[in-house]
Amino acid sequence: MGDKRVALVTGGSRGIGFGVALCLAKNGFDIVICGRRPQIEVEDALQELRSTGADVLYCIADVSSADDRTAMLDAIKNKFGALHVLVNNAGIAPKVRADMLDADEESFALLLKTNLQGPYFLTQAAAKWMIEQQKADDGFHGCVVNVSSVSSTVASTNRGDYCISKAGISMATTLWAARLGEFNIPVYEVRPGVIKTDMTSGVTGKYDKLIEDGLCLLKRWGFPEDIGKAVAMLARGDLAYSTGQVILVDGGMTIQSL
Ligand code: NDP
Repeated sequence: MGDKRVALVTGGSRGIGFGVALCLAKNGFDIVICGRRPQIEVEDALQELRSTGADVLYCIADVSSADDRTAMLDAIKNKFGALHVLVNNAGIAPKVRADMLDADEESFALLLKTNLQGPYFLTQAAAKWMIEQQKADDGFHGCVVNVSSVSSTVASTNRGDYCISKAGISMATTLWAARLGEFNIPVYEVRPGVIKTDMTSGVTGKYDKLIEDGLCLLKRWGFPEDIGKAVAMLARGDLAYSTGQVILVDGGMTIQSL
């Protein structure tokens, strides 16, 4: 059991989650990442994280499975004996972007279970453990960060399921902030815009053009590191007297102008 603070980043083996995990590792955290793939497929990511000096644990865990969430927290207890920071990052887009008038319930159920129900109940379980740690040690500093999306507020009628799952995560942030305030555990939401990852690789051309045409005030894609730096700021405790707040990392995409 080390002296470092321990951060769990769900879906931390690639994309935004990896950017977050790497920034946290560089900021002196030991790291747990999880995903559905076998460890052999994420070895490069684990190596890069370890090269920072962090102790790193990989858990095969589907965040939508209650059993997987329990097993993951048990594995963290066994290895590190502590959890200070939970970053709910893992998430999926619909397999097919379908018009709301045609979209099916299967995709809706999967997205809600993965993007909302899983993180909500992982937060519940992690929070209970953080409360125990806080009671045992006055110097304990816990923190929860939810990675949402501009889709929490921006309507895309060809992926209503995704938008609703992300709007739900925004309310989950508010709710958990309200519940965990008395334990001095801040809860934040980081709301990314368009970030270059596997999730957006199928729509690169579309977004290249939109960005060129002024979609965002800052004329570039966002990168996982942009989100990582924002989460690291929160996890370090730089905004210690704020909770329930939304940090937009969207290049100014959601600023309205006339
Ligand atoms: P990617 O598709 O690039 O990566 C997704 C990550 O989540 C992978 O590590 C994957 O791991 C993991 N994951 C997916 N489903 C599960 C699951 N059920 N259980 C555990 N892990 C899972 O996505 P991004 O990095 O782009 O997105 C990360 C988060 O950021 C998501 O919540 C997304 O909605 C959000 N976001 C993304 C934006 C973008 O433009 N890219 C914009 C706004 C928000 P594995 O494959 O190993 O299971």
